[in-house]
Order: sequence, then structure tokens, then C-alpha cells
Amino acid sequence: MAQTVLVTGGAGYIGAHACKVLKAAGFTPVTFDNLNTGWEEAVKYGPFFKGDLMNRADVDAAFAQYRPVAVLHFAALSLVGESMKDPGKYWRVNVMGALNLIEGAIAAGCLNFVFSSTCATYGDQDGVLLDETSVQMPINSYGASKRAIEDMLNNFAESHGLNRVIFRYFNVAGCDPEGEIGEQHVPETHLIPLMLEAVAGKRPALTVFGTDYPTRDGTCVRDYVHVMDLVDAHVLGLQWLLEGKGNRVFNLGTGTGFTVHEVIDASRTVTNREVPITLGDRRAGDAVALVSGSARAIEELGWQPKRSNLRDMIGDAWVWAQQPGFSK
Ligand code: UDP
Repeated sequence: MAQTVLVTGGAGYIGAHACKVLKAAGFTPVTFDNLNTGWEEAVKYGPFFKGDLMNRADVDAAFAQYRPVAVLHFAALSLVGESMKDPGKYWRVNVMGALNLIEGAIAAGCLNFVFSSTCATYGDQDGVLLDETSVQMPINSYGASKRAIEDMLNNFAESHGLNRVIFRYFNVAGCDPEGEIGEQHVPETHLIPLMLEAVAGKRPALTVFGTDYPTRDGTCVRDYVHVMDLVDAHVLGLQWLLEGKGNRVFNLGTGTGFTVHEVIDASRTVTNREVPITLGDRRAGDAVALVSGSARAIEELGWQPKRSNLRDMIGDAWVWAQQPGFSK
């Protein structure tokens, strides 16, 4: 019989893609989502439980109904800019939500936990390659809230035998190449979808945030990873836990960084269209360069990124950008 896993945020961008590959790998992914930022239409690969992590009773009810063997925790607020303006919201929703989920999981005897963390926990470290042993010094409340959850997981691993795999994502991009689901945020803040909306004429222009950074062309450097590769790693992380291999942290990135201008150049090649841009000021909370040392996931998990190149990430997102998308 298929093993059931609880996927918080399964109606969101990364969570929905995870459900697709979890189902393909033989699991039953139960989406737990409050539909605050997610899309019910994106829940296609398993049951849907509408609930809120801030409400412990919802969490307990989901565990009681589905008895999952593991939790994959994607649900979170994730906008760096917003987190700088409203830190309380990030500490409350991300940290309290995770605490309810962790305590609910332990109370239900579900001790396998896969957590979506972020390279934003590393902060701004002068362009060095960031690996899992790098010190964590977040420069925004989003990163700080994720680091706090990592700490919490470590404490519960000690006290209650919780087994956790932590993935620190770099910049996730692209979408399902089969076009069943894609990236859709309201408001959209991410570079690649905003750029493609500008290309498609859905917004006047892309604003480049800062052109005076100490990088090769003055714009920020990021390490982009295809969402399909990223969620493949989660299936491997889940199997790692179910095989009893224990606690581990893995970066998910490619080791190669691209500037904003380089992403824009790649888009011209993929779409054969110009990207209308305006040059703007730096965005608060942005690190100069975030590039992953990802050898550990490849060596230990056997992760094999297949589509994490700009052509596939932008190409898949471009197909999606021309579709009508999900509606509420
Ligand atoms: N960026 C930009 N214009 C935008 C959105 C993003 O120039 O409208 C830049 C941003 O400053 C960063 C990179 O693109 O250097 C990636 O930003 P995104 O918001 O996609 O991801 P983040 O790195 O913040 O997680």
C-alpha cells in the first residue's frame, strides 16, 4: 500500500511540484494548506486537507485522519522584502506554525520531518561558496525565521528523537515541463516570472534591483535550481529518513551563480523577444551573491539535477507564463 505523507503548503508552488513527484514515486501526498497563498487547483496528486498551521487543532485533525509516515513542511511566508517591513508576521506565522506542526507530528508519533529551509539563513558572505558548514548569519527576518525553525528541529531531535532532513534552497525556478502546474504568486516578486510577465506584455517592464553591487556586471548573483530537480531531492530526502539514515542538512543549488543581467540575456535567447527593463535601486535585504556548494546532496543523497540550467528553467516557465494560470 502507498505510504501517506503530509505535505504542508502542497497547494503552493514548490509543494504542488513535490506532490507530483511524490505520487510518481509511489507515495500518497496529503496536502495541508490554508489557501492563503496557494491554489486549490494545484492540488491534483492526492487528498486535500484545508487547515491552518496556526491552529493546533487543525494539525492534530490532519494527523489523526491520515496517519502519515512523514511530514514535508513547505508552508511558509517567503517574501524577503515583506519580512523586512513586517518581521512580526514572519516570526509569528513561520515559527509558530512550525512549532504547532512539530509538536503535532510528535504527538501523533510521526517522527520523520523534511523541512524547507533557505540559503537566506547564510546571509551575505562576500561571494564565497556557501556549503552546509558555512556559518548562518541571516540578514532578513525571513532567513532568521527559517534559521529559528532549524534550531527548533534540532532541539526536538535531541529531546524527542525527531528525525529531520533540512534542505536549504537556493533560487528555485522553472516549473513542471508537462505544464500541469506552474509558479503563480500574488503578488509575484521573483525574478524569472516577473521577467517573463514583462516579456509577455502582462506588465510594462522588469525593474532591475540595484546595478552597483560588487559583481561582474553590478547586479546580484544567484544560484538558480529547477523546481523539478529540487523536489526530486525531497523524495530522496524522504527515502533517506524512511531508511533510518538520520539527521542531515543539504544545500540545494548548482554551484553556479548568474547575475540578473545574465538571466535577462538568457531569456532573450529562449523566448526570442526583448525584455523591457528599468534600472532601479537596491532592494532591502538582498545579499550580493548566494551560490551553493552542493556536493553533499549529490554525493550522499545521489541527487542528479537534470534541468537546472537557465535554458530549461526559463523555457519551462515561459510555456507556463503564456497559459491562463490558476484562478481562485
Ligand atoms: N530581482 C530584480 N527585479 C525583480 C525581482 C528580483 O532585479 O523584480 C533580483 C533580486 O534583487 C535578486 C534576484 O533578482 O538579486 C533574485 O530575486 P528573487 O526575488 O527572484 O529571489 P531571492 O534571491 O530574493 O530569493
